[in-house]
Amino acid sequence: MVVLKFGGTSVGKPERMKKIAELVLGTPGKKIVILSALSGTTNTLVAIGDHLLVGQHAKAEEEIARLEKHYEAFIKELYTSESFQAIGQEIVSRFFILIRLLAAGQFDNKSYRELLAQGELISTELFYQHLLERKISARLLPALYFMSIDENDEPELDKISERLKPLLTSLQHVDIIISQGYICRNHRNEIDNLKRGGSDYTASLIGAAIRAEEVQIWTDIDGMHNNDPRIVKKTVPISELTFDEASELAYFGAKILHPSTIVPAQKYNIPVRLKNTMDEKAPGTIITSKGSEGSFKAIAAKDGITAINIRSSRMLMAYGFLRRVFEVFENHKTPIDMVTTAEVAVSLTIDNNSRLADIETDLKKFGIISVDKDQTIICIVGQKITEQKAMLKKVFDSLGEIPIRMVSCGGSANNVSILVDKSYKDKALNALNEGLFDLR
Ligand code: ASP
Ligand code: MG
Repeated sequence: MVVLKFGGTSVGKPERMKKIAELVLGTPGKKIVILSALSGTTNTLVAIGDHLLVGQHAKAEEEIARLEKHYEAFIKELYTSESFQAIGQEIVSRFFILIRLLAAGQFDNKSYRELLAQGELISTELFYQHLLERKISARLLPALYFMSIDENDEPELDKISERLKPLLTSLQHVDIIISQGYICRNHRNEIDNLKRGGSDYTASLIGAAIRAEEVQIWTDIDGMHNNDPRIVKKTVPISELTFDEASELAYFGAKILHPSTIVPAQKYNIPVRLKNTMDEKAPGTIITSKGSEGSFKAIAAKDGITAINIRSSRMLMAYGFLRRVFEVFENHKTPIDMVTTAEVAVSLTIDNNSRLADIETDLKKFGIISVDKDQTIICIVGQKITEQKAMLKKVFDSLGEIPIRMVSCGGSANNVSILVDKSYKDKALNALNEGLFDLR
């Protein structure tokens, strides 16, 4: 069994949805097809939900009406026969009745999450009917029957696997099974989601749960690139990555993958292939446990980082000091990304400022605190690059006079991270691209 996931842009236009049907048909064997919402839909649902949470019903209705029109136009192009046009219209009407019902009720966070789930629910139904119109045999398997997260919002892989087994046995004779990305149930059995971009994660969780042969993530770019193509002109797709490298890149900003995607696949050694819907012949990127050692593979950058420095002449060398510092972050449920230490100070970074004021207050008892916002982590990966001679020299030579706020090297053999002020990000990515890769 292969899991194929198609992102928002891959299903965002009627002709693309038709194209996906071809790609699915062209894939041999049994497959589970995971779809995102049509591009732009989740953003619009977020906007509608935000309006409703603050009681701005008229603004919400404006967005709802606009979205409804978009779907009405979509089905007109997607279906050819009159009878399927009618089916499409019935689906759209039904969804928008539900959306307006949610909007009219007591709108709380629970209704908000239910609203967000509608994007994937509608895209999968529309696609399913498209296959039926083309007389392609397929089944819809609702993700809400099996996908779940626990009270810490962590996916329950074992339970997902247990629930999927009998469901898939009952669908043994079916070659194409369609399901929703992103959506799930939480520990209160309410509709919830795997956070923005979570459809990739769904695909990998299913892949791990059923021990699939492969998970394919179809997007609009030909694989993971060696650098951010939106910022650096000359980038190239990387044909092979290890799970560790891909995880690192996804976590540190490579937009192509939801940061947690690799975890379940890696656990059961399921290859993850990144492919381009617009150019299916392009080889894309294959992510496995095997890697080739030697050189720099790729760079990713993550914005919105805050660096916190704690200066404490008395305490740093005392045992237990770092534990107490880390405990502050633990108490405020804020993960730390980078850490560097000196004799009298420690610097660390976080990517979520929602508890920053409380964290600062709690840290003050350890010493003098300073905070720099709007920093960017630049993460450079490659198998065992830290064992390479003069590796850091190459990195620093490339960066030239760009000021570096923090460096982290040696934590893993496969990566070096540097922190720069966001204003230097583009310059740094371009300089590293020139200096570390041979792209001529
Ligand atoms: N539709 C969701 C989002 O836009 C999930 C996804 O596309 O992966 O975040
Ligand atoms: Mg995505």
